Amino acid sequence: MDYTDETVALNLSTAAGKLGQGSIDIYCWTRKRARRRGLFVCSFIYTMGILASISPALVIHLIVPPVWIIVGPWVSVRIIRAYAETREFKRGRGVCPACSAPLKFTGFKFSWPIPVTCRECQGALVALPADGDRRGIPSDSGT
Ligand SMILES: [Zn+2]
Repeated sequence: MDYTDETVALNLSTAAGKLGQGSIDIYCWTRKRARRRGLFVCSFIYTMGILASISPALVIHLIVPPVWIIVGPWVSVRIIRAYAETREFKRGRGVCPACSAPLKFTGFKFSWPIPVTCRECQGALVALPADGDRRGIPSDSGT
């Protein structure tokens, strides 16, 4: 299944039930993107192994490169399995329903609902997709 990146409209609500609008960007990890990241990490590990082989310290020179030759592909397979066909929340934006300040938020974990805190009024908000479609993203509330 191949996803494209998308922007999802949000409903932001306060504990008192006031509603505001927002949106969020979702990054879709296709198999191809996951593989690219896995190969990048593997090549980084191999580079470190090559640098270690230049080291004059005998232990580092002899042990690190062969260990990392094995570790590189293992880590890259783990990364590909962990990321392939998952989706990730990126930047979000909106208007605070309590004080009408513009909101920008990021760094939330990968499930609905998204907890948001307004920087102006310190109000705790909850963001859910406006169309009610959670698009297969795991939910905390189980609904
Ligand atoms: Zn606010």
